[in-house]
Amino acid sequence: MKKMISDLPDDRFTGRPVLVRMDFNVPISKGKIREDYRLRRAIPTIEYLCQRGAKVILASHLGKPKGTLVPELSLKPVADRLREMLKVSAMKFVGAVVGEQVKRALDDMKPGEALLLENLRFERGEEANDSVFAQQLASLAELYVNDAFGTMHRAHASTYGAAQLFRDRLAGFLVSKEIEVLSQIRDYPARPFRVVVGGIKIKDKLSALRALIPKADTVLLGGGIAYTFLAAQGVATGDSPVEHEFMPWAKDVLARYRERILLPIDHVIARSVEEGDKLQNVHRAIPAGFKGLDIGRDASLSFAHELLRGMGTVFWNGPMGAFEVDEFADGTVDVARAMALAHWRGAFTVVGGGDTVAAVRKAEVLETEISHVSTGGGASLKFIGGEELPGIKVLNEKSQ
Ligand code: ADP
Ligand code: MG
Repeated sequence: MKKMISDLPDDRFTGRPVLVRMDFNVPISKGKIREDYRLRRAIPTIEYLCQRGAKVILASHLGKPKGTLVPELSLKPVADRLREMLKVSAMKFVGAVVGEQVKRALDDMKPGEALLLENLRFERGEEANDSVFAQQLASLAELYVNDAFGTMHRAHASTYGAAQLFRDRLAGFLVSKEIEVLSQIRDYPARPFRVVVGGIKIKDKLSALRALIPKADTVLLGGGIAYTFLAAQGVATGDSPVEHEFMPWAKDVLARYRERILLPIDHVIARSVEEGDKLQNVHRAIPAGFKGLDIGRDASLSFAHELLRGMGTVFWNGPMGAFEVDEFADGTVDVARAMALAHWRGAFTVVGGGDTVAAVRKAEVLETEISHVSTGGGASLKFIGGEELPGIKVLNEKSQ
């Protein structure tokens, strides 16, 4: 069974180097961190380990440098921000991931200090799960901790190959919490269980939808993915993003679960996202040449009404429209506010997905108004869909 850091006696950490895989993939522009929720969420694990006298080696990816050194994707600004936030004796940074420079930095470390390595993805071996790189990474420490839930669905060197080389592989506090909450939703959701799915690319959401639709009491579908379902019903969808390969599946789902699925009854449409000043609101049929870019006012009212019916559980992934553009944000903002109300009424609400969390912020709904904000998008959907995530599998595996 998966072990968490608090399962190990305190003295097992004392004086020992611990490699901690973190998710510090935060938006940075001009060297400034624009949003640091993920860094705040990392504090408990880092401070717990430092307080027990570990030498805490932090590793993360940032963006997609694809195995080359991209100066703008350096993690140095993250180390600087962590230094301001953490109560530890030292928060250091080293401009390399493995090698001599890192070894020297480790020699200089005292128990209770933390050191952030440079962006893992500057190394080609990270995403390739290369065994030599995994070996180099693993040689830095004696214990392994994963607290990067958002990357659990990827078998990279830092989440998989290197992890396998440690005897002690532990889940950090954030990962433990995610697994606890998401397993509960997957296996024993309090009823009524409402699921709201929007966004784009059915493919990314397929396993979660397959697992959730049969379990949910109500499934609210909005955003880009709703048009495939509407098209499957024979509704005219104009130039909306219909995914034809998933039409047969959508038809089948509608035939089997029609009574629990709620689709938008009206839409905000325009010729393109750029032409938001020429938008229109239509009920049902979308004329040719137009795209559905947000759910309409009646749709968001009916969705909100459903979310506020009874307490139970609500899980939400995927915005209701192209919310980044103000003209197409209303549906998403209405749903976010209904989520907050449902929370205050006593429902257990979970929101996951990078864009969905950004949309919740845009709606000015606070983190404290959502019962659980999942730090994983793809990872949480796959987990709920019952898929085995490599990063979790390796924590559960018995070491050789
Ligand atoms: P998450 O990151 O929360 O998992 P997704 O990545 O699935 O969410 O979806 C978010 C994206 O979907 C946003 O960029 C949003 O603009 C887009 N989107 C949602 N609805 C529509 C739509 N009707 N037309 C075009 N884009 C849409
Ligand atoms: Mg996204």
